[in-house]
Amino acid sequence: MKSHYRVVVIGGGVVGASVLYHLAKFGWDDVALIERSVLTAGSSWHAAGGFHALNADPNIAALQAYTIDLLGEIERESGHSVGMHMTGGLTLAGTPDRWEWLQSAYRVFQSIGIEDVRLVTPKEAGELCPIMSTDGILGGMWADREGYIDTTGTVHAYAGAARKNGATIIEHNRVLELHQTAEGWQVVTEKGTISCEHVVNAAGLWAKQVGRMAGIELPVSPLEHHYLLTETIPEVAALERELPLVVDLEGFTYMRQDLKGMLLGIYEIKHQHWMMDGAPWDYGIELLQENIDRIEHELTLGFERYPVLQTAGVKNWVNGAFTFSPDGNPLVGPVQGKRGYWCACAVMAGFLQGGGVGKSLAEWMIHGEPEADVFGMDVARYGDFANNKQFIKETTGQFYTRRFVMTYPNEQLPAGRPLKMAPAHDAMTQAGCQWGVSWGLEVPLYFADRDFEEAPSLKRSNAHDIVARECRAVREGVGLVDISGFSRFEVSGPHARAWLDRIMASKLPGPGRARLAPMLSPQGKLKGDLTVFNWGDGTWWVMGSYYLRAWHMRWFNDHLDDGVAIEDVSDRMVGFALAGPKSREVLERVTDSDVSHAVLPFMGCTSMDIGLIRARVGRLSVTGELGYEIHCTAAEHIALRRILLAAGAESGLVEFGYNALLSLRLEKSFGIWSAEFTQGYTAGMTGMDRWVDWEKQDFIGRDAALAERNSNGPEQRLVTLEVEADNADASGFEPVWLDGKRVGFVTSGGYGHTIGKSLAMALVDRDHAAVGTALSVHVVGVERSAQVIAPSPYDPDGAAVRL
Ligand SMILES: Cc1cc2nc3c(=O)[nH]c(=O)nc-3n(C[C@H](O)[C@H](O)[C@H](O)COP(=O)(O)OP(=O)(O)OC[C@H]3O[C@@H](n4cnc5c(N)ncnc54)[C@H](O)[C@@H]3O)c2cc1C
Repeated sequence: MKSHYRVVVIGGGVVGASVLYHLAKFGWDDVALIERSVLTAGSSWHAAGGFHALNADPNIAALQAYTIDLLGEIERESGHSVGMHMTGGLTLAGTPDRWEWLQSAYRVFQSIGIEDVRLVTPKEAGELCPIMSTDGILGGMWADREGYIDTTGTVHAYAGAARKNGATIIEHNRVLELHQTAEGWQVVTEKGTISCEHVVNAAGLWAKQVGRMAGIELPVSPLEHHYLLTETIPEVAALERELPLVVDLEGFTYMRQDLKGMLLGIYEIKHQHWMMDGAPWDYGIELLQENIDRIEHELTLGFERYPVLQTAGVKNWVNGAFTFSPDGNPLVGPVQGKRGYWCACAVMAGFLQGGGVGKSLAEWMIHGEPEADVFGMDVARYGDFANNKQFIKETTGQFYTRRFVMTYPNEQLPAGRPLKMAPAHDAMTQAGCQWGVSWGLEVPLYFADRDFEEAPSLKRSNAHDIVARECRAVREGVGLVDISGFSRFEVSGPHARAWLDRIMASKLPGPGRARLAPMLSPQGKLKGDLTVFNWGDGTWWVMGSYYLRAWHMRWFNDHLDDGVAIEDVSDRMVGFALAGPKSREVLERVTDSDVSHAVLPFMGCTSMDIGLIRARVGRLSVTGELGYEIHCTAAEHIALRRILLAAGAESGLVEFGYNALLSLRLEKSFGIWSAEFTQGYTAGMTGMDRWVDWEKQDFIGRDAALAERNSNGPEQRLVTLEVEADNADASGFEPVWLDGKRVGFVTSGGYGHTIGKSLAMALVDRDHAAVGTALSVHVVGVERSAQVIAPSPYDPDGAAVRL
């Protein structure tokens, strides 16, 4: 063991081995993996080894596809067999909604270029898996690239290939302590101390403790998981080809062949956490006691689905633990404030996702950012609030129990809620507000009668008309919306202006002005769709999406200059926005300040008295109407609402929520983060280049953005589509077709209530992006005609905002 390595990876499970492999493969060979016991000694040795294509997040589905393709490669490179059984796999749908959902999922696969999947009838499903009862099955999806591998062999294949590329593996050596140094980290191990520039927490069941060694809390917990292995089953032994991997979503089980018998795994409805603070250090290669009573219901369903199990002998019960984050996706990436500390943990399906995690993390460490948009597994998608033990227990438990339960896009789940509430929350609830959640904060969706319940739906829901009324109220009169659910960063200090000028790709606003500001990575990928406010008193605000608070703060801190102070004031500063042609008349009633167009023009911002409150006001609105965003302290939030409601009564002011906001912004073709804008896209692709200041000599991402501009331009363009849909709207990642050829995909969609049209925004090959092009789009599995229309179908000239 050397005393210095460039990188120390802690943990020799499938994830640590994959990180090591990718680092070495991409050229960093001064890397070591340190394992407490032997390779695979955590969750990895007793995994079922199954891999399948589905994931609710298309970016993660793409990384899963990468992992599957990688398995053959590491086998060849290392000479270790991964025990590949590429049997193909079936996902079954047992309810009409699930069947529609599966048809939509199939189309999403097409959007991300996974072509070797197809829908099958119950009869075909039965032929593909002859020992299966197809009772209650309405349809299924077949994927060629599904099956299972030998778990121990796979970890050794990653490790062997890493060794061949120059990496070192040290077993039987527990990491005891971590100390941050000026150069990186001191890793204190049982066999001595190592210094390194980077450490990677790939400690699986022990990730919590390895986080705490560096003073980091991670939202992760192990949960128990059962599968059973049978003796030889004559009907299975007699088959000419191996059984496919089958996921029976309504039955909560997955199944694959094991030798001449079967393996049946269960996603337990009555979940059980295990060692929430991390596994004991002396936990060996051992199993937990099975608890058949707890899984009786799921087992019964499994035995009905596969009748041969009813007479089969059970050879082994496996009850093991593996780790979950609140949303079930991995926790990957750098940790803010701990330079050189990287996470690669909470990987629920390491054999399916480990390759993609290793690749992305290695790219991140070597090149500064991963090739793919991995926000869905970025450790910075959570904030400190998510490290609360009860929050972790509720959310990971909910995820586990619902792993195979269908979640509708409009469904509100209860775990970890309510946690953060803006002060006017209760008063708004009294007024009928129905709530969603963003990064732990309750956010208003719409206002309905107190006893209204929204039915979960893949299509337009029973809240459709309520949202329509709110949209019309904004367009025709004036609406009031709580805007606490946006992030606010306050930037000050002598070098604040220069720093903002470097970090934002746009021009900076002059005093008393606000400006839309794209933020780019050095590679020219989007890092933010922000709004910068110059309050004119030496302080600046940067506003963006609330759920990106920790993600943006990490970026700001990583690029901070001396003489700049940046503070996330989002918990301290909250507010309401007025929107609609009558919003000025409401504002005039509560302030002495001149808010006429001449004094406070579009994109102007200033401090003013509103009733008793000293507020900060910006004249802008994502609704595309005349509007004012009014910011106050949290202590004044209730008062601000009362003042504005009272002043607005005469003008017919209506409270509205984010569902209406989303519809109104779509009518204006305004993009939003995670849909039109992600770190996977560039300024040129998304039209964000409109806001780039090309005259500016120095800003992050300038060279890449210029190169894009000077080339032929991006291959795809963001367009607005009018879709001929009647009872459902596009939502995101549906394929866009031209004469049967896929030419793009939807970034987001919805109903434009005040123009009466189903709308979508989409990234489309530039040759087919012209206004008037006739295309088609899949909406909830059904192909619908669509047409490229000019951006901003509502008020294309922007007259309304300039009233
Ligand atoms: C019953 C069961 C069935 C499963 N089935 C599947 C499946 O079909 N498909 C699938 O993809 N996934 C499956 N999984 C999940 C899969 O096992 C995990 O996702 C995967 O093993 C996680 O790998 P890891 O490397 O993150 O963690 P682990 O395998 O837990 O590895 C972590 C390693 O870190 C080491 N370590 C920890 N702390 C230290 C320290 N301080 N110093 C040195 N070393 C340390 C540990 O000894 C351990 O070897 C299953 C899990 C279970 C329990």
